[in-house]
Amino acid sequence: MTTTPVVKFSELKQEQLSEFLHDRIQVPEDLQANVMVTTLDKVYNWSRKSSMWPLLFGLACCAIEMIATAASRYDLARFGMEVMRPSPRQSDLMIVSGTVTKKMVPAIVRIYNQMAEPRYVLSMGACATGGGPFKEGYTVVSGIDKYIPVDVYVPGCPPTPEALIYGLLKLHEKVERQSITTVPWYRKGASEAIPVPVLGPDIFDPRKVQIIKEQTLGSAGAAKGGAAGKARLQPQPIPEDVKARIHAAQAKYRAQKQPA
Ligand code: SF4
Repeated sequence: MTTTPVVKFSELKQEQLSEFLHDRIQVPEDLQANVMVTTLDKVYNWSRKSSMWPLLFGLACCAIEMIATAASRYDLARFGMEVMRPSPRQSDLMIVSGTVTKKMVPAIVRIYNQMAEPRYVLSMGACATGGGPFKEGYTVVSGIDKYIPVDVYVPGCPPTPEALIYGLLKLHEKVERQSITTVPWYRKGASEAIPVPVLGPDIFDPRKVQIIKEQTLGSAGAAKGGAAGKARLQPQPIPEDVKARIHAAQAKYRAQKQPA
């Protein structure tokens, strides 16, 4: 007949509390089973890292490994992050896993902007980190960190679930090192939205429009203050014949839309 082991609750409690005890504060021995002394930072960081809700963002093959990490064999539930949130407003961690195409970047940045602080980004795999096997391809960007700040990079093509879990542990370490007195999200203007990149013939950052203009429209004259270069940077007037064609097309469109 097997006997049930006797659980010494006072020892168990002490074991669980010991990591929170502040080194410099001595708790009297008779109070140690009931009193916990810790720092605000420790509690703040412990609660955040223990329930870091991930935003699913699977873009290609790496996503399969991310999905496997959340399945029963690897068990993300032990980190309090078993449910992948479809809403950025409920998420703390964006896992970008897979090939980041130029077409997808505006959506990623927009979703990142919709996440509330504190928010973190984990770049999973060679593609998300630097373009991977498609680097310099005409449809792919060379790393999501060119558009949003990345906290942890997980290398591999694809990274295994173990590698992703290691990356999550590294993120936990980063969270543990933060202090409530210095974290950026309690400062004025620290969490401003990132301008969403524009997808045209190529993708570009709206903050770099002036530089792009100068380089494509003849930077030499504009940069030196030459009249010719400056004139080329000004909006060009629409010729009269083009205006007439536009008006004719608009009138035709309106006529078609009129109820019979
Ligand atoms: S890093 Fe490799 S496995 Fe991951 S999305 Fe790119 S090609 Fe696929």
